[in-house]
Amino acid sequence: MAAGAAALSARQLAADEKTERATRGLASPKIKDVSVIATAPAGVRLTVVKITTDQDGLYGYGCGTFTQRADLVNAAVERYLKPFLIGKKADRIDDLWQAMYNSSYWRNGPVLNNAISGVDQALWDIKGRMAGMPVYQLVGGKHRDAADCYTHADGAEISQTIENARKFMEQGFRHVRIQVGIPGMSGYGARTAAAKIPGVLHEGPVFEPAVAMRRGIKLLEEARKQLGEEVELLHDMHERYSPNQAVQFAKAVEPLHLFFLEDSLSPEDIAYFRQIRSQCATPIAMGELFNSPHEWTPLIQERLIDYMRMHVTQMGGFTPARKVAAFGEIYGVKTAWHGPGDVCPVGHAANVTLDLVCYNFGVQEYTPFNDRTREIFDGCPVLKDGYLYANEKPGWGIEVDEKAAAKYPYSTPGGRYGNLNGGWGEIRRRDGTIIKQ
Ligand code: MG
Repeated sequence: MAAGAAALSARQLAADEKTERATRGLASPKIKDVSVIATAPAGVRLTVVKITTDQDGLYGYGCGTFTQRADLVNAAVERYLKPFLIGKKADRIDDLWQAMYNSSYWRNGPVLNNAISGVDQALWDIKGRMAGMPVYQLVGGKHRDAADCYTHADGAEISQTIENARKFMEQGFRHVRIQVGIPGMSGYGARTAAAKIPGVLHEGPVFEPAVAMRRGIKLLEEARKQLGEEVELLHDMHERYSPNQAVQFAKAVEPLHLFFLEDSLSPEDIAYFRQIRSQCATPIAMGELFNSPHEWTPLIQERLIDYMRMHVTQMGGFTPARKVAAFGEIYGVKTAWHGPGDVCPVGHAANVTLDLVCYNFGVQEYTPFNDRTREIFDGCPVLKDGYLYANEKPGWGIEVDEKAAAKYPYSTPGGRYGNLNGGWGEIRRRDGTIIKQ
């Protein structure tokens, strides 16, 4: 065949394919608009990214919630990513992720990662809607029918925490995270009276790690004694202790056979995981504060943790989370994605999708949705007997009522983060030293 005829034939084939794909509705949709739905139905600032395409009725939603700095994420989406994305093909998800990730040159920060996540998850939603399938089908299908969850039991006193844990066990939960208040101090994850122990140079909340450590160990010992051997107990140290205290804590609770001990070290101190690992077999979970591959890669590669529990939007969305989960599978590290109230229901749908499709699933943190949240987000994942089920509709299976969302602006009271525009206040030691929280 002459060269000219071959080129003509190739052009004809390309034209035929284009016509056929368009006829079958398979032409690449182009991104037409990118917008933010800012809402706080539970008093917690949520960021939902909506992407519309040039194809009628084809759109998607993603979670980009970084509640402590929500206004900055929203600006990153609308002022930087939107102009970058308009006109691009919506079906090239990984390619667009890499393009967004590199477009600021400096990367792996929480604001930009959340903005990218909002777009990334919206693109997965769009692809699912195009295929007429839930996202879990697009990425290989289910390993399991539902995700085993843990919930949070707490109390000002140890007896109250144990009583609350028992209630959750009666509701069907097999895993319970237990936290207890510390008299006079601002503990983590538990109800306490207003801080009464005065600081030397300040009047705000006080936290003393050594006191909290003794209280936490006592709680776990008592809970294991009273709740029995069968329930899986979890505890969050929330990065509030010195590295040596973390080693002591992990060793002290080893005989209690926890499901995992969470955030025993801060991200700045992760090299100390080697010491914990070398001295005891308490299962270790880490990652909700991570933003960068430089943080999770060594911990997985050296098998220094048992559970990766990154906040999926903070690591840049569903696309990188899938890759890191697969990386963890090779090293025997399981997933336990962060699932608090400052993840929007679309983000929770992405979490449960990862739970279902990854072989190395460990457990899923569960936070209930309130009525206002359900009013806005139709199709939230459903909990039954301690298991979380994904929606079976295409994409994430969630529709967002934007009019309802507008009823609950960021100033809506009721959440933990009502002051400081969603930012956190400070907690100090008695002598005035700021602690990580
Ligand atoms: Mg935590």
